[in-house]
Amino acid sequence: MNLTPFFETAVAQLNRNKSAELGDRTRYIGSSDVGGCARMVYLQRKHPSEPDFTTMLKFSRGHVAETLIDDIFKAAGINHLYDTQVELRHPVYPLRAHVDFLFYADFDNKPVLHILELKSVNNIPDEPYPHWIDQITFQLGLLRIQYPKAKMGGSILAIDLNAGKLHQFNGFEHNDSLCNYLFTRGLHMIDCLDDKEEPKASASHMCSFCSYRSDCPEMNLPKVELPPEIEALANKYVELNEIRHDTDKELQSIRNELLEFTGSSFKGRSDDIELAVSTVAPSQVVDTKLLKNRYPDIYPEVLKERAGYTKLECRSSR
Ligand code: SF4
Repeated sequence: MNLTPFFETAVAQLNRNKSAELGDRTRYIGSSDVGGCARMVYLQRKHPSEPDFTTMLKFSRGHVAETLIDDIFKAAGINHLYDTQVELRHPVYPLRAHVDFLFYADFDNKPVLHILELKSVNNIPDEPYPHWIDQITFQLGLLRIQYPKAKMGGSILAIDLNAGKLHQFNGFEHNDSLCNYLFTRGLHMIDCLDDKEEPKASASHMCSFCSYRSDCPEMNLPKVELPPEIEALANKYVELNEIRHDTDKELQSIRNELLEFTGSSFKGRSDDIELAVSTVAPSQVVDTKLLKNRYPDIYPEVLKERAGYTKLECRSSR
């Protein structure tokens, strides 16, 4: 039984089924589009191309995480508090969002609308990515139009299934000006789709999932003659960087396995190796975002200049 070709076809079909659940995406701009790259959105709609197998499998990780969280909520008996995949539509423009989990009440049954956006990741970032923030802000904006008076908020639940970790980035609120900006961006994307405006490329971490990289102006550099020794050094740099990247990933996975064995506190040695695990107590840092929001007059006074540095980017052009 050879499962490899089977999986390649079946994962593609699963991906198509999941996309179909979101309706005809050529007809609207969604919450995952507005914060992203107009060129990618345009090409996805006008010249759809199926992502490669690895990317599709990574997309499926998101669906697995959604089912898992839903099962956990059901097991805890709180499934009466929320709906999944709730569609929100702008009353006038073709702007829509599909909310992963929309809670209608808190655990104490007090009415509150709470959007929970789920993100399945490899490593949980220290701060939510800007693209995630745009997405939940856009969703809260559409929810506010539907429920002008309701108490509402939102959070992003990042889950790393490999490491068995999750983290809630909480406290998102409806923000009128940010939301209007995102609606305007959505309308700009609609104009691009109607060929009234040019869809400009804007690079972000989403480029790694993009099927339109090969001829993207953001990815293409002017052709130059490099001295052979510089080219050789640059190739070596790329090679070492890849090794470092793979090593970091392997280190992280070994670290997780070791911690599974030791727990958060351990001291011991074998004939070959010493192993010590301890917990560093939490410390306090200034929440710069909160400072900026609550004390906008003070914020500029506590800013200090950070020294610039030379950024070297080197990647294979083949
Ligand atoms: S590679 Fe990046 S910048 Fe270029 S189209 Fe794709 S997402 Fe946009």
